[in-house]
Amino acid sequence: MTVRPMVNRDSQFFWDGTAAGELRIQKCNACGVRRFPPGPACRSCDAFDQGYVVAAGTGTVFSYVVHRHPPVPGKELPIVIALIDLEEGVRMVGEVVDVADDEIEIGTRLRVDFRAVDDDLTLPVWRKA
Ligand SMILES: [Zn+2]
Repeated sequence: MTVRPMVNRDSQFFWDGTAAGELRIQKCNACGVRRFPPGPACRSCDAFDQGYVVAAGTGTVFSYVVHRHPPVPGKELPIVIALIDLEEGVRMVGEVVDVADDEIEIGTRLRVDFRAVDDDLTLPVWRKA
């Protein structure tokens, strides 16, 4: 079992992207502001006309936690969860895989990868760049 993210009308493009091997960031078609997580209306100009850009897929660790407890369904602990600053100017949370907990620090460069959970869900994960 895996903890499944919420997919709704505002985030469908994001999950379509991960399934296609793309990290998609919401971008306002009216003013160009990028945003994560996605939402229905732009927070800068209130426009509902929202598109997306495909991120380069690289980022930097802003902060991180090593999660040892409590247990997470479908996960072997510990797992490393990081807040990642993307080149595109947004910050997202993600799991960093294949990294020892003493191999990661603030500022570590990461690159996105994609992990297919099943036919309907592909999760972005991060690796050391
Ligand atoms: Zn806008």
